[in-house]
Amino acid sequence: MTELVFQQCLNPQCSGTASLADTAFRCARCGGLLDVAYDWDRLPIPKTLKHFEGKWANRTNPLDFSGVWRFRELLPFAPDDAIITVGEGQTLCQRADAVAAYAGLKPGRLFLQYEGMNPSGSFKDNGMSAAFTHARMTGATRAACASTGNTSASLAIYCAATQLMRGIIFIGSGKISFGKLSQALEHGALTLQIQGDFDDALRRVQEVSRQLGIYLVNSVNPFRLEGQKTIMYRVLEALRWEVPDWIVVPGGNLGNVSSFAKAFSELVELGLISRVPRLAVINATGADTFHRLYNEHHLRWNGGRFDQSKIDSYYASLDANNRKADTLASAIEISRPVNLPKALRALDCCNGVVRAVPDAEILDAKAKIGAGGLGCEPASAASVAGLRTLVREGVIDKDERVVCILTGHVLKDADETVAYHSTDPATSAKLTTRGVKQVAFANRAVQVPNDLAAIVKIIELNG
Ligand SMILES: *Cc1c(COP(=O)(O)O)cnc(C)c1O
Ligand SMILES: [Zn+2]
Repeated sequence: MTELVFQQCLNPQCSGTASLADTAFRCARCGGLLDVAYDWDRLPIPKTLKHFEGKWANRTNPLDFSGVWRFRELLPFAPDDAIITVGEGQTLCQRADAVAAYAGLKPGRLFLQYEGMNPSGSFKDNGMSAAFTHARMTGATRAACASTGNTSASLAIYCAATQLMRGIIFIGSGKISFGKLSQALEHGALTLQIQGDFDDALRRVQEVSRQLGIYLVNSVNPFRLEGQKTIMYRVLEALRWEVPDWIVVPGGNLGNVSSFAKAFSELVELGLISRVPRLAVINATGADTFHRLYNEHHLRWNGGRFDQSKIDSYYASLDANNRKADTLASAIEISRPVNLPKALRALDCCNGVVRAVPDAEILDAKAKIGAGGLGCEPASAASVAGLRTLVREGVIDKDERVVCILTGHVLKDADETVAYHSTDPATSAKLTTRGVKQVAFANRAVQVPNDLAAIVKIIELNG
């Protein structure tokens, strides 16, 4: 008899499995990625999604309060007393008509899933809570990640709040925003700033973790993705359990899109929803590996027989031309997305599309999101910029119901926001030197003399 919970190679041609406790996070047979797999027939599954509404009345239980663990029947790999939560997932799915108008959708058709409300300020806490729980189940005392900033902030918080583990963080030099770096330092993680970019840091942290037996919490870890499934459960909950037409999500390491598709396909398998939404993944043009491979090289999942040689030769050409990821949306500044095969499967399962949007459009979309009342970081705004592109192309109809995922909080990268709204050339240099010459929605600070009459006049002119 198979185990209730195990890890399974994502490649349907390979029968590789690993036990629940295995922490290699690679198929021992083929080296491929692993999924967390469940023998659902032997697990207690709710009859309808409404079941989860019952948890609202029980919020004094931390597991029912958590926006991840109140759905624990749908990620049942941990016994209740092993679960670690710091109150993650108290997030909002807000109707956003002003942003809808900007993107070209009709009123009432766009919702923003605001993951900036998490304890560390990004969606990463959903996955970290699950990975951290698994780490503790396996007896780990140290956990490591490579990060463009948010994974490290999240790991640092879980280590500090629980005092259960030492957090070790690898970041590329000079790329991380101060908001995110400050979190890693403030919460006491061992922070290693290595010479190189995120892709270099991710390679190193995998080597070091293997050599020293340190638990790895990057999204190659399939337990991370189990936690991130709950973002979709909360979206459904906010929409009264109705499946939207589209989910639009920024794509970096492609963990989110992979976990979203897993969430929906499992819900269909369990008979809890009847159809999946379509998925749109949005790259930044400066870090557009997925877009290029999917749209230009026509790379497809193909039942698991995806053409690895297309990926290899694309990466070889990046190396040959010394092309590094380069975008102001630092959280998606990744050119070798570790979850690429899973993301191919996700698009196959959810009739997905990929687009890439330039930094200038990302920052304009970010300003529009901010003007609509939710503050997000640049990478998050790629979702709305991408939506606008897809509506303009006619891929998404103005009548369709769309949810864009706002992955991180606006205060993660305040420098960039101030640079966008500033007239001071020294301040806005952060954007202009990276190729963003013009911004459309700057809200300039007004210079006034220290004089009552002058101040009154300016307010009457502008207020
Ligand atoms: C990590 C991150 C992303 C990228 O998510 P993936 O799952 O790696 O594709 C996007 N936005 C923010 C704010 C992030 O922190
Ligand atoms: Zn395998």
